[in-house]
Amino acid sequence: MKSTSSSSIIINRSSTAVKKKVVLFDSHCHLQDPRIHHLAPQIIRTALDSGVIRFAVNGVSEKDWSVVKQMSEDYPSSVIPCFGLHPWYILERTPSWFTTLKDFFDATPSAAVGEIGLDKGSHGKKIDFMDQVQVFRQQLELSKELKKPASIHCVRAFGDLLEIMQSTGPFPAGVILHSYLGSAEMVPSLAKLGAYFSFSGYLMDLKPQKAKKMLKSVPTERILLESDSPDALPKSNLDSLLLVQGDASVSQALQSQGADVPEFSNSSDQTLPKETLNQPANIHSVLSFVASLLEMPEEELAELSYRNALYLFSYPGSKVN
Ligand SMILES: [Zn+2]
Repeated sequence: MKSTSSSSIIINRSSTAVKKKVVLFDSHCHLQDPRIHHLAPQIIRTALDSGVIRFAVNGVSEKDWSVVKQMSEDYPSSVIPCFGLHPWYILERTPSWFTTLKDFFDATPSAAVGEIGLDKGSHGKKIDFMDQVQVFRQQLELSKELKKPASIHCVRAFGDLLEIMQSTGPFPAGVILHSYLGSAEMVPSLAKLGAYFSFSGYLMDLKPQKAKKMLKSVPTERILLESDSPDALPKSNLDSLLLVQGDASVSQALQSQGADVPEFSNSSDQTLPKETLNQPANIHSVLSFVASLLEMPEEELAELSYRNALYLFSYPGSKVN
């Protein structure tokens, strides 16, 4: 889908947000998303200027794998392509989806796997769970066979996820539990199988005590940071965020196709239009939030999360090794 609107602009609420000297790796985002794809050059420039220098761009359906591949070619040093079929889009898969997916990996050695997953949340529960499991398992096994990390979406299905990972794992090339909001108790068993835990603005939805307990249970060599752009806008002070004014007509078109386009009611006294979107430069807000809960200097967390991402994405054929 292509936006025809010329009203989409990037709002830079504050120039202070781009002055930090840390270097960050966006371990999970969707810059190919039709809501922001037309703004990608500007969004990437803003991110690079702010110190966010690499982006794992995750495809979600057969329709967008070629867009992700093209972005990876357009941004050879910063965009890491990832191909996967997200559970929300399994109903529209073609009979040849898995062959097509394998062809993309054959043609793109620098790619990782994602976004794949399981979802029993408000949107996911409308999609047959056994079907989700089958599609997920196939892709998880493929990631293991290809020795590539897989980016996993999991909503209210951590018991099922652990069971499947235990029966198909361990995963020496790693798996990324993106926007992790699971419990602290699950962390050790998942980590043992090779999981990395990636944190986005959604972490700010958890009660601070719960988030803190969970964060402290994650081994430091398994911590990643992500934007999940264009979603997961951090709920921080708006003055510290870089926003993307979305195109309402694109959001409406996506909603009519059944996509879950989130509505934003930011912090108590600040309300954003529902088409306000997130961009990778906002990882700086996630960094500050996670660092404060971990009681760790921001620079230290930036350095270790960057190092972890570099290690994870250094598989054979990767752009970063
Ligand atoms: Zn995602």
